[in-house]
Order: sequence, then C-alpha cells, then structure tokens
Amino acid sequence: MPFRRLAALWLAGGGLCVAAGVLGGQIELARLFLNAVPASLNAGLLSLVAAVALWSDPRMPSRRLAWCAALLISVPALVLVEHLGGVDLGIDIPALHRAMQPTSPHPGRLAPNTCLGFLFAGLALWLQHRPGLRWRSLLVSCSVYGTLAVGLSALTGYVLDLEAMYRLLSFNSMSAAVMAMLVVLGTTLWSNLLVGDAIDDKAADPVDERPEDRITRTAVGVLGIVAVVSGVAGFALMQRAYKMTVADGLETAARGHAGAFAHSLKQEMEIAESVSRQLALQRSLAQLGVKPTDAQAFDDLRELASSVLGQDFSALRVENGRGESLLEAGSARLRSAVVALPLGDGHSTLLWDDGLVLHSELPVERNGDRVGGLMLERRLGVLTGLLYDLQHRDDSTDALLCARIDEDAVCLPSRFYEAGRHIAMYQPDGQPFLPISKALLGMTGTESVKDLRGVPVQAGYAPLRGVNLGLVVKTDSGELFGYIRSRLRVLTGLLAALVLVGAWLLRSHVLPLAQRLARSERRLQMVSDNLPALVFHVDAELRYQFANARYLSMTGLDPKAMLGERMQDVLGAEAFGGIAEHIAAALRGERVRFERHGQLFGREHHHLVEYVPERRPDGRVVGIYGMVLDIAERHRALAQLAESEARLRTITDNVPALITYVDTDLRFQFCNPVFEAWTGIPVATAMGRRMQDVLPPKVMALRQRQIERALRGETVQFETVAVLGHGPRHFQVNYLPHRDEQGRVIGVYSLTNDVSAQKELERKLQTLARVDALTGLANRRQFEERFSEAMSRCRRSGRPMALMFMDIDKFKGINDTLGHAGGDEVLKTFGQRLLASVRKTDTVARLAGDEFVVILEGLNTVDEPHFLARKILAAIAAEQQVLGHSLSVTTSIGISFYEGDDSTEGALMALADKALYDAKAAGRGTYRCAPRSALVAGRV
Ligand code: GH3
Ligand code: MG
Repeated sequence: MPFRRLAALWLAGGGLCVAAGVLGGQIELARLFLNAVPASLNAGLLSLVAAVALWSDPRMPSRRLAWCAALLISVPALVLVEHLGGVDLGIDIPALHRAMQPTSPHPGRLAPNTCLGFLFAGLALWLQHRPGLRWRSLLVSCSVYGTLAVGLSALTGYVLDLEAMYRLLSFNSMSAAVMAMLVVLGTTLWSNLLVGDAIDDKAADPVDERPEDRITRTAVGVLGIVAVVSGVAGFALMQRAYKMTVADGLETAARGHAGAFAHSLKQEMEIAESVSRQLALQRSLAQLGVKPTDAQAFDDLRELASSVLGQDFSALRVENGRGESLLEAGSARLRSAVVALPLGDGHSTLLWDDGLVLHSELPVERNGDRVGGLMLERRLGVLTGLLYDLQHRDDSTDALLCARIDEDAVCLPSRFYEAGRHIAMYQPDGQPFLPISKALLGMTGTESVKDLRGVPVQAGYAPLRGVNLGLVVKTDSGELFGYIRSRLRVLTGLLAALVLVGAWLLRSHVLPLAQRLARSERRLQMVSDNLPALVFHVDAELRYQFANARYLSMTGLDPKAMLGERMQDVLGAEAFGGIAEHIAAALRGERVRFERHGQLFGREHHHLVEYVPERRPDGRVVGIYGMVLDIAERHRALAQLAESEARLRTITDNVPALITYVDTDLRFQFCNPVFEAWTGIPVATAMGRRMQDVLPPKVMALRQRQIERALRGETVQFETVAVLGHGPRHFQVNYLPHRDEQGRVIGVYSLTNDVSAQKELERKLQTLARVDALTGLANRRQFEERFSEAMSRCRRSGRPMALMFMDIDKFKGINDTLGHAGGDEVLKTFGQRLLASVRKTDTVARLAGDEFVVILEGLNTVDEPHFLARKILAAIAAEQQVLGHSLSVTTSIGISFYEGDDSTEGALMALADKALYDAKAAGRGTYRCAPRSALVAGRV
C-alpha cells in the first residue's frame, strides 16, 4: 500500500504540473514531469486519474472514481458528438508541442485511439465500483484489457517507430506521454482488478467471481496482450525489412539512373562539340571573317546548318568572330525555358521546355584562333522519356534533377513541382537540407524525410558525375508501405481470429480443468478448515505453501500472512528448535509421528504431530505435509482415566476381598492381589487363562453353574466353604454380569468376601439367643426347640416323658427384702441346684422371672417324676447364703406327662401350668401332677 500511495502522489504531482503548465503556457513546468516526451493536457488528465485510482481502496465504491470515470467518458463522447453532428464544440485539449496549423486547427484533439483508450478506462473505472451488476466482472476485464491494449499497442508502435501503422489507423496524433499514461492507468486498473477479485471471493457472490473464471479471464487477457505485442513486434520486423528493401531499391534506382543520365548527357555534349569542330564550319567561318560577303562560304554554312538540323538538333545559330549572328535555324529555347541548369563545362546548359533540351554554346576555332561561335539546341527525347518513367514508377514517385547554383539547388520541373524549385542547400546549422543537397555534394544514399510538401517520403539520391547535377528519386512513405499495410490488415485479422480461437479453446479446454482444480481446492480448503487440526504444507525451504484456517483459532497465527514465510520465522527459534529434528527426518523422507507438550504462543498445548514427506516421482523430497492434532482433551481424559484407574487399583489391591474379572470364555482378565494370597496362584499365571485351567476341579465344579447363570445375565450370590491354609473358611461370592452398550454380557465380575468371622459371630449370637444370660440355663427359645424334639423322640421311642414346671414361692418378697441383686443370686443358685438334681440328658430351662422347667425324657415309669420332684424340693429348700443373709426358699412344681399321643406342646405346657397352680393352691413347697390322658393312662 505505501508503494501505491507513493506512486499515486508522484502521478498526482506530475499530472498537476502538466495541467498547470499546459493551461498556463509554461512549457518548463510541464516538462518537469516528463522531460523526455512532449507533454499534453491529455497525459496530465490521465495521470491525475491514475493517481486517484491508485490512492483509492480498490475494494470500496468511491465517488471520486465515479467522477473520474465520468470525465474520461465525457471527453470522447463530446468528440463523437462533434464528428457525427458536424458541429464545432471547440473541444480542444491543447498540447504544448504542436503549433496551430491551418491543416490542423485543433492540434490537441483526441485521436481516435485516444478516444478509445479514454472510453475503455472510463468504463473500467465506472464498472469496478458497481458491484452486483450483471456480467460486471467480464465487462471490467474487457475494458481494463482494452485500455491496456490501446496504450501498449500505441506505445510499442511509437518505440518501434511504426509510423506507417499510426497513419493507417490515424493514430499518429497520440502523443507519447498520453500513450505512457494510458499504459500506467491501464496497469493501475489491472492491479485493482486483481485486488478486487481477491476480495470479492469472500463476498457471497460465488457465481460471479469464481477463481476458475478469473484464471480463464486472466489467461485470455494475457493471450490478448501477448498477441497484440507479438503482432506489433512481428509487424515492426517485417516493416523494417521491407523498408530496407524499398530504400535499397530507391538508392539503386537513383544511382543507376544518375549514371545513365550523366553518360547520356555527356554523349550529347560530345555530339554538339563534334559539330563545332567540323572543318567545313571552321573554314567557312574563317573565310567569312576575312571576307564577310563570301557567298560561297555562306552557302557552305547554310548547307551545314541544314545537315545539322537534320541530325535532330532543334535550333542552331552560327556567329562570326565578333559575335554577330550569321545564321539561325529552328527556334532556340533558352529564353523561354522554365529552368536552365548549367552542366559545368561552361558551354552546356540543360533546359526544360516540355522536355529536356541540351543547349550548347560552343566556340569555333581554326588553328587556335577563334573564328566564330556555334549555338546548338537538341531535344533529349530519350532522356526525357527515361526521366518521365522514373517519375511515374508508381502513384507517388517523383524524380528531381537539380544543379547547384550558388547556395541553392535548382531543380527541373517534376511531377509534383511543375514549376521547378529552388531549394536551400543547407539548414541554418550547416547540415545539408534535403537529399538533393547531399546528391549535389556528391553523396549517394537513401533517407526518410518530409519533403517540401510536408509529406513523409523515402528518397534515394545520387550525383550525376561530370555534369554537375544531382538526382533524387522519392516516393511517399505512405504509398511505399501500402503493401505492408495491406499485410498488416491481414495480420491484424489473423491475430484477432487467433485470439478468438485461443479464447474459445481456453474456455472449452482450460475452464473445465480450472473448474475441477478450483472445486478440488475448495473442497480441500473446506475439509481442512473444518478439521479439528492444523494442516499445513511447506516446500523444501520450509516456506509455508498452505495453512488451514484452524491456525487462527488454535495458535492465533493468521494463515494468510504465513504463506511464503519460513517455518523458523513463523514459529520462532525456540518452538522450531523443538521440532527441528522431526522436520529434518521428514525432509530425509521419513514419515514422522510424535507428541509435543508445553507452551506455544503463550498457550498450554498437547499436540499430536504427523509429518508426511512430499515426494517427486524420482523420490526427491520437495516438501512436507503436516497435521497437528490438539489432543489436550484426550490428554486430560487419559490423565483422568489413569488417575481413576490408579485409585481403583489402590482400592482393589487393598480391599480384603477377592476381585476378578473373566470374559465370556471365562478367561481371567483381572485379579487383585488377594487372588494370589488366597489361592497361592500368582496373578500373572492366572491372567489370560481359563478358570477351569487355573482353579482346582472341585472348586470349579462348585462355581460352574453359578457363573453360567451370571453369563446369562443374572446377578448371582452364593456362599461356599473352602479349605485354605489354616482350615475351612466361609466365602460369600457375588457374580455381576458386565454388559456392553447393546446390553450383551461380555464378562463377569466376581467379588468374593471371606465371611468366616461373620459366620462365627453369627454362631455365637445364635448361641446367645438360646441361653438365659443370668443362670446359663436354656432359655425359653431353646426350651421350645428341645421340647418339640423331645416330643418327636418320645413318639418314635414310645418311652414317656414328663414336663416339670416350677415357680419359686414368694419370690417378690425375696426381691423386696434383698433387692433385685439378691433375687438374682437366688435365681442362679436355684438354677444350679435344679441342674444338679437331674440327669445330664434332661433339659433345664428358665422361662421367665422365677419360672423354670425341666424336660424329663426316656422315663421308665411315670413315677419317676414324683421322685425327682421330691428330690428337687429338698435340694431347693437347703439353706443358702445370699448377700450375707441366710435364707431358704421353696418352690412349687406342676408336672404333666406325654406318652406319644396327639397332645401338643401348648397342651402339655397348659397341663403343667395347671398342675403348678394346683401346687401353689395346695400351700406351696409341694408338687402336683396333671392327669395323664385317658388313652395313655389306660395303656400304662
Ligand atoms: P407366689 O408364691 O404366688 O409365686 O408369689 P411370688 O411373690 O413369687 O409371686 P410371682 O411368682 O408372681 O412373682 C415373681 C416375681 O419375681 C415378680 C418379679 O418382681 C420377680 N422377678 C421376676 N424376674 C426376676 C429376676 O430376674 N430377678 C429378680 N430378682 N426378680 C425377678
Ligand atoms: Mg413365684
């Protein structure tokens, strides 16, 4: 941009200088800007417009540029109005270098090609700032390339001196400054076009500004410019060669004709001299000198004259020694001749009188004395014819035959100068003026000049040696190049056709390729920009050729600014140092993959990097494709996973339970260290092997069914006993099926707890629940179990049994006097005495409070309880010491019998209770028996 701004300032300064200089008539001011070429207001105008175009942002519509466009278009439009309407609007854009001339009242008027250039440039400026117009980009391209084509072709023509071409197209009035400025403006518009296109790509106008269209358009434009420039250059070469041939031809013609003319003239002069040397003439004149009235001599003279006239001389005069005319014949032309050219021998003059006439005035001498003079005139018909032919070689040829008289070259009338011509020999600076001057100075050659009519001509010149004359053969340059101009027309048509065919071929063959390329590039760009990764491509010098849009979000680097820069410069020495060895490996042709962690551009990063070398078919590495994946998330997830795994591992390693995991093949996939501690099998040995191959068959047999259930999806819990080291252990095993996302069982977790301690505790609790805590006797629960078992045994054995129900007498009183603790002591002693009174197999239990029972099994007779009751009564009644007091307690006993009949436990208890009640009622300290059932009683 700074360069554009500087250039704009320079152009604006120049344009203002030129405009001010031209309008104010200050040539020096105007030439400050472009000294080398003549300045014109047109050039100044173009320069100012180019400055505005350079200064403005090509992407923004601008009012300034719209005004410039209007100005550029209005000038040629007005010229057109003038031409078509035949009115004189007086539009005159003056140029300093040209003076007003009668033939050209408007010397600065826009030439047709300048008009065209102005129109193209104006249109381009206007269109570049009209977004959304249909076919806009195509039209802009056409007008920009049109401007360039007009400017370049004019400039090339100017530089290569192709005046003929200018004339053909009336382009000759475009000044070099205008051409140059047209090219500058065209180039500015072209660069704006490229910048504008790049911006438009982003706009939502995909149909109008696709890169493939741009490629084709640029290709067509370049093709057009190349065609114009190469056509012009080719034509220049052709024209130069042609010009040389023509020039050579003219020089040869001049030299040849000059030689022939000189030779012929000398011959004619010789003939005249030979007449003057005739003896008869000398004798007659000598006689007449002695005797002027000598009739004989006079007759001889007359005879001579008639014979001379017979020899094609047109006029003759004989003078005597004193210069008096003696005889005249024919009509002398010297006086009436338009031009007379002295031929340098002092006697001969070349006259023009509707043809060439050689006028000779010769002395007649006899024996060294002058006896008279002879004037002869002879028409040079052949020479005149030759000269005429030379002058009419073609439509614009002329031949000038001239002699030098003092400082002038005096010429005979010719085709275009019917009156003859006096031409100054020298220019004010002392140089020969025109080719004729050179011919008269003895030079031979050819030259392009403007002749006296102001027409550019090509002239060949040569001296007529020995006769003091010079010959110039010239032809109008325009005429001369008529042939080549017709060729140019063909060439132009051919080039135009070539450009059209080329454009068509480009559209039909290159456009689809470009489209494919552009589409694939768009696709690639789309894909790579949306990848969650950095994608780049560097060449062998590590300069970025491609970087996707992710760079901006992942690293803060602008991918566009990276292009063309080296990796070292973009990443910085430190970051590049970290990957230098991988890059080097990739450049050696290795595919590299590595992870990179740390700080990059002030951000914490975890990257997975992959470099793929780009190879030529010959295997040479010419670049690297790279992909950098941001794995920070994955890294974090992995770290979390590892952490949670470690936590889990700590738990499973330290939990006092066996944890395993088997897959559907029952292969161990996990075992915690407890596995080894309990089974003695190292974990490493078990891993990956099947359960049935690792565990003893007995153990496996126990688990087989359960694990199959778990594999079917059931949560299984069971207990089992296994002998480990010190003895049998109780285990509680849980099988938990592991399901995948589809719900299929893919393995089984097993959790085995050693519940031996718990089992023991349970057992103890069980025991505790069946024993009376105070006395250590069986409690009601144990009693009920035992009672029911005893009844069963009784039914099986048929041996009767009895139930004794006891209640301490007046126990409340003991409690009242000795306190509760004393009561407890009494209860304990009661229990012990009761236990001591019965057999070991009999069951003694405390039911509640001061109630006790005894089950007597396997009675031989029904009287046995009577004895025992009495024994108990006695044992209980024995004195005892309680808390320092001596006391004696009594008890009442109720007895019921069972002898295998249908009676229930409850019925027997009720009977015993009733009997006890009876004993209490009978005064306590005694026993009573319930009546035996009738059936049994009858049997016993
Ligand atoms: P009876 O001769 O009619 O049986 O009169 P008694 O005073 O013994 O009356 P009863 O058998 O109905 O009373 C039993 C008493 O035993 C009632 C209660 O306060 C007491 N007792 C119950 N359990 C315990 C115990 O565990 N320890 C103590 N010290 N006293 C108990
Ligand atoms: Mg009691």
